[in-house]
Amino acid sequence: MWITNGSVADVAVVWAQTDDGIRGFVVPTDSPGFSTQEIHRKLSLRASVTSELLLDDVRLPASAMLPEARGLRGPLSCLNEARFGIVWGAVGAARACFEAALDYSRERVAFGRPIAATQLQQQKLAWMAVEVNRGTLLAAHLGRLKDERRLAPEQVSMGKLANVNAALEVAREARQVLGANGITLEYPVIRHMNNLESVVTYEGTADVHALVVGGALTGLSAFR
Ligand SMILES: Cc1cc2nc3c(=O)[nH]c(=O)nc-3n(C[C@H](O)[C@H](O)[C@H](O)COP(=O)(O)OP(=O)(O)OC[C@H]3O[C@@H](n4cnc5c(N)ncnc54)[C@H](O)[C@@H]3O)c2cc1C
Repeated sequence: MWITNGSVADVAVVWAQTDDGIRGFVVPTDSPGFSTQEIHRKLSLRASVTSELLLDDVRLPASAMLPEARGLRGPLSCLNEARFGIVWGAVGAARACFEAALDYSRERVAFGRPIAATQLQQQKLAWMAVEVNRGTLLAAHLGRLKDERRLAPEQVSMGKLANVNAALEVAREARQVLGANGITLEYPVIRHMNNLESVVTYEGTADVHALVVGGALTGLSAFR
């Protein structure tokens, strides 16, 4: 379920449980028995197609199996790369929301002065700036660790958890600064906010990343 570009792709990479443990397969999407079902009525990440992949007695040559990837190592190392990207992507969405709120607050005049001149809005803007910069620094720090090949998966989990949650809070705060205009697609804020709801869930839910961090902190796995 929930496979991005599932019904437009020519090949699907499928990780499956076999007698030989988890193995990866490159599946041409025109294989007999392979079909897709597009997921409609999404209110998040609407610009990309999301699909269910159905495999019904699909037969593949042995050459379709990824030779080196065995067990969960293969899929998890892919996810680790993607999640590191999300650490940055989330902070980019947050920055776009913050900048939209800053611009809007300077332009929107209420009772003879821009709302940017009020203490309440400045407090929101200051908080958003702190979160955006904190997220950027966290991403940069993880990037430097990655360059030195010292980045642990638990640190990627911490970055994904922290930056996506912070970005969602920044988007919600920015949406308020825009008042009613915050709910229209004339401004980028609600689009980022709705998209971030998917980002909280995909590439490991916030819950699951919290369990990864919790496991690293305590030495006790909460996974069942
Ligand atoms: C727009 C979009 C695009 C996506 N694209 C892709 C893609 O291209 N490829 C892909 O593989 N996946 C993709 N996904 C799927 C995404 O990775 C999953 O939705 C996600 O992993 C959560 O799985 P689930 O929806 O089955 O939720 P569930 O696993 O049913 O989880 C439901 C809730 O229970 C919690 N939960 C689950 N297990 C535990 C546990 N052990 N302990 C405590 N809490 C738990 C979760 O955190 C969540 O809050 C996409 C999702 C979306 C929304």
